[in-house]
Amino acid sequence: MLMEVTCRCGWTTRGSRSEVIANIQAHGRAEHQREITPAEVRAIWRIAENGTTSGWTK
Ligand SMILES: [Zn+2]
Repeated sequence: MLMEVTCRCGWTTRGSRSEVIANIQAHGRAEHQREITPAEVRAIWRIAENGTTSGWTK
């Protein structure tokens, strides 16, 4: 399942669950000097409905 997370600063990432957690944690460290927990990510992520992966089935 493809997930999408938008940071409160407007930055967005999408990918698998583990990917978006890793990506936004890296973003939090680099841009906000804070550690974003997986629980925080789960609170704000959403399912990305319009994935561009070929062969994607809903
Ligand atoms: Zn941000």
